[in-house]
Amino acid sequence: MQITGNSAATRLGPSEWFTGAVYLDAITTPSDNTSLSASMVRFAPGARTAWHTHPRGQTIYITEGIGRCQQRGGSVVEIRPGDSIFFAPGEEHWHGAAPDHFMAHVAMAVTDETGAVVVWGAHVTDEAYGQEPA
Ligand code: MN
Repeated sequence: MQITGNSAATRLGPSEWFTGAVYLDAITTPSDNTSLSASMVRFAPGARTAWHTHPRGQTIYITEGIGRCQQRGGSVVEIRPGDSIFFAPGEEHWHGAAPDHFMAHVAMAVTDETGAVVVWGAHVTDEAYGQEPA
């Protein structure tokens, strides 16, 4: 048994991968013992990920606020606490807060054979982000 306290500092999401203020707290990091990567992620209003994919897919579980997500070619969708969203392996997508609300989610993904859990792409433009949710 291993209990990890909140000794690791909250990290700010790098601007290469996120737009706006996004705060990351690791829950578990892939190691010899697990392929699971899990984080608590908090987005300020208007903040969101860049477009990206997960080689083995990803589940996010919304815990707070109001958010938005979109898969490439699909409509922007509003997401709320209690929603669990699975992004299929290789499915290009983004997730973030609504323009006028914070949003927090737990993000869970497993590594592929190279150890990767995410492949990053271009930022989500204000125009794409600003579409009214379907
Ligand atoms: Mn994702």
